[in-house]
Amino acid sequence: MKPRHWLAAAALTLAGACATAAPPPAAHEIAAFNAPPLSAEALLAHVRVLASDEFEGRAPGTAGEQRTVEYLQRAFEAAGLEPGVALPDGTRSWVQETQLNAATLTNTPTLTLTGRDGARSYEYATQFSAWTRRLDPTVSIENAPLVFVGYGVNAPELGWNDYEGVDMRGKIAVILINDPDFETGDDRGFGGRAMTYYGRWTYKFEEAGRQGAAGAIIIHETAPAAYPWAVIQSATGSARWDVVRADRGANRAGFEGWINNDVAMETFRRAGLDFNRLKARAQTRGFRAVPMGALRGSIELQTQIETRTTANVIGVLPGAERPDEVILYSAHWDHLGRCPAVDGDDICNGALDNATGTAALVELARRFNADGRPQRSVAFIGLTAEEQGLLGALYYMQHPVFAPRNTVATINMDGVNNAGPTHDLEIVGFGKSQMDDLITEALQAQGRRVEPDSSPEAGYFYRSDHLHFAQLGIPVLYTSNGVDMVDGGVERGRAINEAYVADNYHKPSDEVTEAWDMTGGAQDLEALYAVGRRLADGDEWPEWRENAEFRAAREASHH
Ligand SMILES: [Zn+2]
Repeated sequence: MKPRHWLAAAALTLAGACATAAPPPAAHEIAAFNAPPLSAEALLAHVRVLASDEFEGRAPGTAGEQRTVEYLQRAFEAAGLEPGVALPDGTRSWVQETQLNAATLTNTPTLTLTGRDGARSYEYATQFSAWTRRLDPTVSIENAPLVFVGYGVNAPELGWNDYEGVDMRGKIAVILINDPDFETGDDRGFGGRAMTYYGRWTYKFEEAGRQGAAGAIIIHETAPAAYPWAVIQSATGSARWDVVRADRGANRAGFEGWINNDVAMETFRRAGLDFNRLKARAQTRGFRAVPMGALRGSIELQTQIETRTTANVIGVLPGAERPDEVILYSAHWDHLGRCPAVDGDDICNGALDNATGTAALVELARRFNADGRPQRSVAFIGLTAEEQGLLGALYYMQHPVFAPRNTVATINMDGVNNAGPTHDLEIVGFGKSQMDDLITEALQAQGRRVEPDSSPEAGYFYRSDHLHFAQLGIPVLYTSNGVDMVDGGVERGRAINEAYVADNYHKPSDEVTEAWDMTGGAQDLEALYAVGRRLADGDEWPEWRENAEFRAAREASHH
């Protein structure tokens, strides 16, 4: 562990040196390449660079992005890849550039809820978060009535509409996180404990916007959200990003945000409503939205909007026999950049999330090259702006570089095991496609086993980049680290996961420490390599299972 005073001093020096920073290392200077491809040593060496304070937490549109993109390009080139993107002028590029809007609050907003007992004002970041997706410099909501809309779900195919009979125009929707059958567990069409897309916060805000709400507030509860308030708070200091949209965000609520649990409980009490009883009612079919008494909400957001350029980084190893058919490996290279300081450290280094996955891209590329050219092409995509809402993947979905119908599968990596070898590897979204069978066989060959999604209620399948590849119809494989540790078993594995979520996830302390052990991660990646290699050297087209929500998209693209 580095002493904090050293870190603070280093941060100052680097900030000053930034404008004239030396170029990143040339290919032959990439330390990881001194170790064997896909080895624990090589992975850790990349992570040490990518998660160093010099890379400033790898936020899109910053000097940290520039360093990251340059490092990845050089590493891809040194690993034997070719630039993956064909430009209109016939040349090729390593980057797929895209413009994103970054909206930064310039005021510190106050959320004021006024009722018969007077006005109460809440503090930004600690008690609530708020932003706007509208590209307006000032958004002002005054005395808008609050309406509790349960889970805020409108699912016509399930005959479920929490907005039935209410006109949300000029009003603020107050919404529960996750979906209506998360707590009860009996499947009401939302997968029981498993989360569906209706449970995701992104969906809640989209739907509130479609309903014409003036504002949308989600009540934070740690279990159904699957993360603590600190995760929401950590995002309050940074810009909000979006892909450039034609309607300039006009179809979104004026403001979107979260309130913490204490504020929510106080608000329900002031409205004379019983939170637990209403929540139970919201879990049943036929729930009707409930006006929250005399309560009115006010907030003003002043936002500075910039357009920033960022990039997905794409390299390809062309196939010897069928270069048009492509296996994709993806991992987001970005992280949060500067974030609220903890003990004087304001760089969210994102070592596990996702310097590890980025390192894996390079090492898989080296490994494919070392083992000889595959029959099909294998592409490696470092995606941008995952932390801002899977935006690099969304942009790729809108502008696929490789034809989706010719894309055999996507294997996505977000957080490679850094805690040591495990007997198991977890498949997030297990049961959706034949990719399950391929990884099962690869693990069996290692004397290991597959574990189905351990927390489908947390909706991890919908929380990383592969979602947008799935929406293109491409079968995806997304694994999560095993918990049955060779050293310490399930008990130790669970404890390590819980400690990471509580202490390091999206915090400045997601850094490389003495405790890191990439040998388990290297073994996991060996299995992902085996899956990709088998697909790249064969002619299989893995398929979605019958009930998978993405099967129709694949059929529409003729595979
Ligand atoms: Zn991540």
